[in-house]
Amino acid sequence: MRQAAINAALLPLTEAQTTRMGIRIAMFSKRGLSQFHAEALADRLAYRDQDLDSRRVCAECGNYIHEFKCAKRQPVLMDTLQHCPAFAWQLPTKK
Ligand code: SF4
Repeated sequence: MRQAAINAALLPLTEAQTTRMGIRIAMFSKRGLSQFHAEALADRLAYRDQDLDSRRVCAECGNYIHEFKCAKRQPVLMDTLQHCPAFAWQLPTKK
């Protein structure tokens, strides 16, 4: 789905969804995505959440290590929505 279509389909975000988006952008940036890419991915995931799509991306997984490696030795698809059997949510960490 292209960015314009996502923007058109995305419902207004609640305060919690806006907070989650900020956390995601920071995490994706920390994991090596450009600011533009991180924001675009966060938009896509916000739409995914509203659409009740159960697929996930490696960029939000707790098993993602760094430099596109996976602790479970699965092929890393950083920003491709997928059903990975080893997926685990990356929980927010305190600074
Ligand atoms: S466990 Fe699956 S979703 Fe998580 S980083 Fe590895 S390949 Fe990606």
